[in-house]
Amino acid sequence: MGEEKKALFIIFGGTGDLANRKLYPSLYRLYKKGYLKDHFAVIGTARREWSNDYYREIVMKNIEELTESTEHAAAFASHFYYQSHNVKDTEHYVNLEKLACMLDEKYQLEQNRLFYLAMSPKFFGIIAKNIKEQNLLTENGFDRLIIEKPFGHDYDSAYELNEEIRASFTEDQIYRIDHYLGKEMIQNISAIRFGNQLIESMWNNRYISNIQVTLSESLGVEERGGYYDTSGALRDMVQNHILQVVALLAMEPPTRLKDSEIRDEKIKVLRALRVYNDEEVRKNFVRGQYGKSTIEGSTLHGYRKEANVDPESQTETFVAGKLFIDNYRWAGVPFYVRTGKRLAEKGSQIDIEFKNVPLNLFQEEAEEDLPPNVLSIFISPVEGFSLKLNTKKIGPGMRTEPIHLTHTHSAEMTANSPEAYEKLLLDCLNGDATNFTHWDEVAASWIFIDAIRQAWNKVECAFPNYPSGSMGPIESDDLLKRDGFHWHWEPEAE
Ligand code: NAP
Repeated sequence: MGEEKKALFIIFGGTGDLANRKLYPSLYRLYKKGYLKDHFAVIGTARREWSNDYYREIVMKNIEELTESTEHAAAFASHFYYQSHNVKDTEHYVNLEKLACMLDEKYQLEQNRLFYLAMSPKFFGIIAKNIKEQNLLTENGFDRLIIEKPFGHDYDSAYELNEEIRASFTEDQIYRIDHYLGKEMIQNISAIRFGNQLIESMWNNRYISNIQVTLSESLGVEERGGYYDTSGALRDMVQNHILQVVALLAMEPPTRLKDSEIRDEKIKVLRALRVYNDEEVRKNFVRGQYGKSTIEGSTLHGYRKEANVDPESQTETFVAGKLFIDNYRWAGVPFYVRTGKRLAEKGSQIDIEFKNVPLNLFQEEAEEDLPPNVLSIFISPVEGFSLKLNTKKIGPGMRTEPIHLTHTHSAEMTANSPEAYEKLLLDCLNGDATNFTHWDEVAASWIFIDAIRQAWNKVECAFPNYPSGSMGPIESDDLLKRDGFHWHWEPEAE
């Protein structure tokens, strides 16, 4: 059982998809593990007129699959309170404050408050302002603000949003969530690197030829067409998740595994990203948009036919790119990244390709090149690692063959490992910001992304340019082929 935390959660957007699918189940998991027990309360707020009873029913429905017994679920749900509230209406914050004070006393929460903004980002500024102006911030406990992505749609809008929020909260009270950072195998990157001399001593441009990051989704935009069409894969996936993974892969060892030290190292990486001019963007970045295709007898329509999407849309649903980190450790090592929707398979994987041996002693016999060593990190749905090595083939002569040393977490371990949102909520309760993004990281990421976006905006693309169910446009493969490499993770080939 974990150590009990005392806090009031105020969830703005308490009737929404994120709250229902992720937050309530995660809070229940923390309850089951004893991190939340007697001294916690949740206020859910949104415009809908719900009663406390109805709200509790909804909460219980959302945790149905996790519950041990109805009594246990009901005991958990009894800590939930609902208040109808339009975030634009100042008056309502007064009622919210009264309810918060009442619950603080009732559950002895020591004035610890966690404000979770599970709503459209357009409301973040006004909510933060009202929280402060209507005295929802406490004097004695902690006040922490959790903000969902996206944080702005470019550097200027992110800066403006940050200024608005910073008028009410200090940087160390702001937890910008990136749920990728809560994933087990993303957190494992530091363990693999800094727990193994074998790996870390080779973790540089002398031994690594290239690094590949793939975050692949098999679904299309589903009901999110309206939002997605104003965003695209570059903003939705690369600016946050992919650049965060790159930063963790490339950062220098922190002096301690503490949030501030890790962030300092990640910020240095993001600032060292080479920002491209238009010509370099054209050479190093590929964009794509899915078209229709027929898979197993059923027709999937193209992106432009999705609900709430402009039929002439220039929004990319796929990005592949080659990044450079201009520092001593990584000079000359390309980081290839790709992400997209309606790809062949859902999965996230990192592949680290090592340089070839200086001399292939086996060439005469085998008449072929030795394949390079590759360390693969499987993030999802499989969690684990694989190291590809060359060994002697059984039999006469000295022919070699590649083998894979593979460790994957069992299905049971994966199922029992804490969900990303559960971990991040607990981190926030503990005041540990390691797995949240600092403003400086957000700023550096947007500067890199804006250069690509601006170059793309100048030229129309002949979309759609990849069929649903493929691994993106052919130019994505060419990006690596030009350099003598190929994507290590190719679902079709498996
Ligand atoms: P959603 O389902 O549309 O929920 C929006 C919530 O905001 C609802 O509870 C809605 O309730 C409330 N709301 C809207 N206008 C309001 C107003 N003026 N005053 C008070 N409440 C208002 O959205 P979501 O999918 O949960 O997403 C929330 C945030 O999380 C977004 O920033 C999104 O980008 C991010 N996010 C979501 C997911 C996910 O899996 N869903 C994943 C990653 C990030 P009423 O209509 O009752 O007011």
